[in-house]
Amino acid sequence: MLGTVLYGTGDVRCEEVVEPKILKPTDAIIKLSASCVCGSDLWAYRGVRDVNEPLAMGHEYCGVVVEVGSAVKTIKPGQFVVGSFCLSDNTCPHCQFGFQSSCEQREFMVGAQAPYARVPLADGTLVATAEMPSDDLIPSLLAVSDVLGTGWYAADAAGVQEGSTVVVVGDGAVGLMGVLSAKQMGAGRIIAMSRHKTRQDLALEFGATDIVSERGDEGVARIKEMTNGVGADSVLECVGMKESMMQAINCARPGGKIGFVGVPHGVELDGQMLFFQQKSLLGGPAPVRRYLPHLMDLVLTRQINPGKVFDLEIPLADVAEGYKAMDERRAIKSLLRM
Ligand SMILES: [Zn+2]
Repeated sequence: MLGTVLYGTGDVRCEEVVEPKILKPTDAIIKLSASCVCGSDLWAYRGVRDVNEPLAMGHEYCGVVVEVGSAVKTIKPGQFVVGSFCLSDNTCPHCQFGFQSSCEQREFMVGAQAPYARVPLADGTLVATAEMPSDDLIPSLLAVSDVLGTGWYAADAAGVQEGSTVVVVGDGAVGLMGVLSAKQMGAGRIIAMSRHKTRQDLALEFGATDIVSERGDEGVARIKEMTNGVGADSVLECVGMKESMMQAINCARPGGKIGFVGVPHGVELDGQMLFFQQKSLLGGPAPVRRYLPHLMDLVLTRQINPGKVFDLEIPLADVAEGYKAMDERRAIKSLLRM
């Protein structure tokens, strides 16, 4: 079959790869309904993250189970399933505590930018739908797997609740999903920090009430001005750079919460700064598994349409263009059709 392999900076190829097989009794093999390129795939594509060997790319997935290992009990061939990019047993103490992304058996999904993929820890990781979803819901169900689950976690970690004033730093796909999530959680005001027209428009569509195009200290000053000098109750950091992290921390009010989900690159924080800011910080890889049943239900009952975040749809064979378009910010997120 064809699959996506990253060889180095700017070098991603769709090429013949070995079809996945059951390797452990707890595995499942799924036939993907669609796949996509993640903002986090770009770290390696841009050379920010070292690539020492060819990488089988893709960690966002939904599709139909075609085979399960001998120890898989709840997941069955023929079911439509969505899973998290973090694979988890859903039984260990961390999973039971709702942090499946820190599962004692955690693995990260790989190889999902392909027609078939192996999903380890299938029973713990996958959630099946009652029936086969209609085709038009596939992009939204795929979004649940990572980008929506991560935006939701950012909002949850930032303590968004009814009436909250929320700031979202980052207008990538995750930031936009953070806006959608904050809206679902009942936020009163959602300020999206973005300077790109198409992303601003999508943020407004997903529920943003205000747009701030200034960045850094100017952006912080603008947020303060809009909140009577107080700052935001909740801030979602969806970038992962030093500037964006400081922007997020400085936008929050004392006692406010910051959910940070952009994978940090070059972020170093000063202890005394953190001490005197008096703010809560919770981040990390999103425990998407915790949210899967709820988010899948919101999609299946058509209460949300996160699939709108895909603004480029291409065949798997053109995956290189999918990366390039996102790298050059011509696309927010690329959907790959098999
Ligand atoms: Zn676990």
